[in-house]
Amino acid sequence: MEENVRTGRCVVAVDGPSGSGKSTVSRRLAAGIGARYLDTGAMYRAITWAVLRSGVDLADAESVTKVAGEVDLRIGTDPQGYGVTVDGVNVDAEIRGPEVTGAVSAVAAVPTVRALLVARQREMINHAGRIVVEGRDIGAVVAPDADLKVYLTASAAARAQRRSAEDAADVAATAADLARRDRLDSTRKVNPLQQAPDAVELDTTELGIDQVVARLRELLAERGVA
Ligand code: C5P
Repeated sequence: MEENVRTGRCVVAVDGPSGSGKSTVSRRLAAGIGARYLDTGAMYRAITWAVLRSGVDLADAESVTKVAGEVDLRIGTDPQGYGVTVDGVNVDAEIRGPEVTGAVSAVAAVPTVRALLVARQREMINHAGRIVVEGRDIGAVVAPDADLKVYLTASAAARAQRRSAEDAADVAATAADLARRDRLDSTRKVNPLQQAPDAVELDTTELGIDQVVARLRELLAERGVA
């Protein structure tokens, strides 16, 4: 078991809705166990940015797929600070803006876009070996053989509170946007937000980040992988 620690393959899948604490927890966990970190939401956001820039109709799946297939999307995997570029342009700030946030669920619902990104994500996971991957379909679809699958939840109020604090936005407007994205992400036909049957569910409503990370490290230790 011991030789696996910090050296062997270790894939941690962290899924859950927006505001459940996925990003902060995943980055912290990755840094703590000496693993890479992949933010798959940032990939869907970057493609959405490119689609908006191209001016194609979001409802035109064929054109959206064409844009997704042609752009040069790059994303770093350093948990201490990763950059996202599209055709050489750094889009870290813009992909978090209201325009992309408002359109991303529609782009992420296009099956051919998902197929492209899932293939990229699997390549990156295989290449990294030790990696914490966060998203909506990681444990169920992208990495079904992950060493640990976690599904983070939190009350709607806690999630809206956290997101509005991060974005300095109005809590009620944030709550409405989260509810809208949850509905779209959970009801799409291909790879909806879903909890893998073998995922450990953790409600983070009453937990601090350190407590959640500590619990995940315990779960990894129990499995003998980190
Ligand atoms: O995690 P984040 O809020 O940045 O994700 C943005 C959007 O990307 C989600 O609302 C969802 O529509 C999409 N997404 C997805 N599958 C993933 C990660 C994100 O559909 N694995």
